Amino acid sequence: MTHELLPQQHRHAWMTQEMDDFRAQVRRYITREMSPHLDTWRRQGFIPREVWKPFAQMGFLLPEFGEEWGGGGGTLAHQLVVQDEMALQELPENIGVHSIVSHYILDYGTPEQKARWVPGLVSGDFFASIALTEPGCGSDLKSLRTRAQREGDEYVINGAKMFITNAFSGNFMVVAARTGEAGSGGVSLLVVENTHDQPGFRIGRRLEKLGQHASDTCEVFFDNLRVPAHNLLGTVEGQGFRQVMSQLAYERLLLAVPAAAAIELAVSLTVDYTRQRPAFGQHLSDFQNTRFKLAECATIAHVVRGFVNDCIQRLLDGTLDDEAAYMAKWWCTEQQCKVVDDCLQLFGGYGYMSEYPIARLYADARVQRIYGGTTEIMKDLIARRLFA
Ligand SMILES: Cc1cc2nc3c(=O)[nH]c(=O)nc-3n(C[C@H](O)[C@H](O)[C@H](O)COP(=O)(O)OP(=O)(O)OC[C@H]3O[C@@H](n4cnc5c(N)ncnc54)[C@H](O)[C@@H]3O)c2cc1C
Repeated sequence: MTHELLPQQHRHAWMTQEMDDFRAQVRRYITREMSPHLDTWRRQGFIPREVWKPFAQMGFLLPEFGEEWGGGGGTLAHQLVVQDEMALQELPENIGVHSIVSHYILDYGTPEQKARWVPGLVSGDFFASIALTEPGCGSDLKSLRTRAQREGDEYVINGAKMFITNAFSGNFMVVAARTGEAGSGGVSLLVVENTHDQPGFRIGRRLEKLGQHASDTCEVFFDNLRVPAHNLLGTVEGQGFRQVMSQLAYERLLLAVPAAAAIELAVSLTVDYTRQRPAFGQHLSDFQNTRFKLAECATIAHVVRGFVNDCIQRLLDGTLDDEAAYMAKWWCTEQQCKVVDDCLQLFGGYGYMSEYPIARLYADARVQRIYGGTTEIMKDLIARRLFA
């Protein structure tokens, strides 16, 4: 793997021997138990939920959760290492969504809610999605229109969501809905358990995407969906926006780390390919253009990895400011798209063929600049701080 091609990184405190061992275990498991099925999952358009139970039993699903919940007792760095290893083998980021949702429950759930949901999230009995985006709003989340109306001991949810990862393969959804007035203060998060069994909950199309074919992304409709009032996350209405916004730094790293992995994978594949592809009585790797291009890409890989490693350390130390996380998200994912595109060029026509991993990396990369906050929104947030 490319790690060996790149100059050694500074070892941060989080990169312990225990973490190296954990990484090696995750890598072995993915190689043996998951990668062989990836083509099937891509063709069918989703990873079956059953896959996550043995993954959880290995301690890889929520390794950062405490042992009192059945988790691995690790840190957020453990989850980020899992994401890294998944991306190095081209697996999509579905468990990142699961981790985000699980942290909402852990951080904002009442003791009863945590007791009800966290063990199932850790064991993989629940596999989670988060439904924020709507057909009419994505970046401008505070204008969402899905409504949750309190009726006695229940909320009645009506509305539609768009682009929801894990909606089909998962069975546990956190829904952002309007319980109050217009604007961010009127938004709450509500939990829908065993989604597929609920009257009033309907999955629309599984959307056909440019890339990330193994990851399911769906439209979701709520038509008088009734959930118990105690499924309101926390105890007070109107906290949803604040709850969603509070973990932004970690969530951004869940996308920046796979960007670093994809860049390294692209460089590695391209070094191998150009070494063996003959042209004009030499190999592609003999041309100065190839060598310079890959030297540039390897430099970017090194800088991206250094940046994300540093961000992980700061996340664990509690010193990662939101702006640094926004920078990591937009910059690393933009570099991912650039490097993968440069590498694909060196494959010539073969680079355009889906059977070549570089073509898939190209298609998979594009959404990284869009979901989890677009590049433009990240820049806007950074600029707000600059001009505050
Ligand atoms: C594969 C995939 C998976 C996804 N998974 C989920 C999920 O699990 N849950 C979920 O809730 N959502 C999910 N999303 C939705 C994703 O988060 C949104 O697509 C994203 O936030 C952008 O929203 P939008 O698509 O409505 O674009 P818009 O908000 O309409 O933006 C369109 C363009 O306008 C730009 N723009 C918007 N506002 C501004 C501004 N103020 N200044 C400058 N430029 C601006 C944007 O940067 C973008 O380039 C997913 C999307 C995809 C494609």
